Amino acid sequence: MDASDCHVAKTGDTKTRDYVLDISRNIAYVYRMKNDIEPANKGETAFDADDLNLISLAQEYSDEDKARKLFESWRWPGGKPICPRCKFDESYKITSKPDTKNKVRKGLYYCAACRKPFTATVGTVMEASHIPISKWMMAFFLICSSKKSISAHQLHRMLKVTYKTAWFMAHRIRYAFGGDTTKLTGTVEVDETFVGGKGEAKTNFSRHVPVVALIQRGGKMHTRVVSNVSQKNLGQCLAECVDKSAIVNTDNHDAYKPALKEYKRHDTVNHSRDEYYRINPDGSIATTNSAESFFSLLKRGVYGSWHHVSREHLPKYANEFAFRWSNSKMTDGARMAVGIPMIEGKRLMYRKPAN
Ligand SMILES: [Zn+2]
Repeated sequence: MDASDCHVAKTGDTKTRDYVLDISRNIAYVYRMKNDIEPANKGETAFDADDLNLISLAQEYSDEDKARKLFESWRWPGGKPICPRCKFDESYKITSKPDTKNKVRKGLYYCAACRKPFTATVGTVMEASHIPISKWMMAFFLICSSKKSISAHQLHRMLKVTYKTAWFMAHRIRYAFGGDTTKLTGTVEVDETFVGGKGEAKTNFSRHVPVVALIQRGGKMHTRVVSNVSQKNLGQCLAECVDKSAIVNTDNHDAYKPALKEYKRHDTVNHSRDEYYRINPDGSIATTNSAESFFSLLKRGVYGSWHHVSREHLPKYANEFAFRWSNSKMTDGARMAVGIPMIEGKRLMYRKPAN
């Protein structure tokens, strides 16, 4: 290959460092790639995420190269690798020379603009992970498809990774599912519950953590973990998650009332008088039953799968349940295809990076 093939024409800086090979980085072999990433299903029938299940994932995508191609096709749906640093869509593929001992890792690209190497996992929760992509895909599938979640111990046994690794993977995936800032509209049910602790919330209050659920009826939902159920905290949850045009349904908790004056309408149901469902004169229904159903599911996760959740990590557990709730009307494979692109721009680190 002639070095002139590698000329980077995309930057304005042509006087210095106008060849990718000018950089003294250990790049074994660089060639101009076609603009498209290779599809995961090359030469086969069109890929349909609906067809994805545990069997097809284990049979077809346990191969690391195939798993990476599938992952790249979800990560970059436009078909071109996008640099995670400068968002430029022209890149070069880096591969090892056939006879070299120092092989570069697979799936490595080189940005034509900022001239830095990247893979599909850079800038995501999977960055710097040594776990094969095929195992990550399996973990995503298991979490996306388990209605009452899955414990780190079970992931550790099923994926043949250490317990610590399984715990970190699960937490990274849960973290990826958060951060949706879409405001809820239409009829929105808002309710709060206490998660964790033993006995009555009143007697052992410090161990019970309040979780607020905000659910657009028949649509998406958001959760917020708050320090206490105060007027200020609930007002902030509503301001962050619910559009002012929404009709909001709550129970008769007084703390909701001031904040909800600015919204289109506020309907309450009086749980203390055993009122859980009411048909308004205009035919609309006032209830918080969707929120109650969500809390039952979340608590099944706490009692049945995780056994203990810390206050610090509870927002991530709630994210996971909210993600499945928001994307419940689809197949497990399609839910995974929705979940994986959410890893973009989210990097979870428990320790400060060294640099
Ligand atoms: Zn770049």
